Amino acid sequence: MDNPNKVTKDTTSKTTQTTETAEVAEHIKKQYEQVGIATLLNTVEIVCVDCQATRTIAKQEAFQVKRCVSCQEAYRKEQRKVYRKNRMLNLKTRVQLLENLLLTNNISIPA
Ligand SMILES: [Zn+2]
Repeated sequence: MDNPNKVTKDTTSKTTQTTETAEVAEHIKKQYEQVGIATLLNTVEIVCVDCQATRTIAKQEAFQVKRCVSCQEAYRKEQRKVYRKNRMLNLKTRVQLLENLLLTNNISIPA
């Protein structure tokens, strides 16, 4: 049979839940007012592949965006670094090839 103490406890937690639900509803309502229903419906939440943080983005960007704002910035920085490094390596290799070509053809660059 029902325990009277349990019933009292359940009623209390139900009241708390209702308050929380009301707060959440109020929060969502404020969000709607701020960004507009069209914007909210056209957004999607993604999980950052690097730090697992959530980021809200436009639905049409869902296939391109994989990172949160700070990880995206760090990723771009790293990509630029790799690009510069490869570019320098390619240039050095090219200079070396040209120097070898000149040497094998007995051509010297005038000082
Ligand atoms: Zn991140």
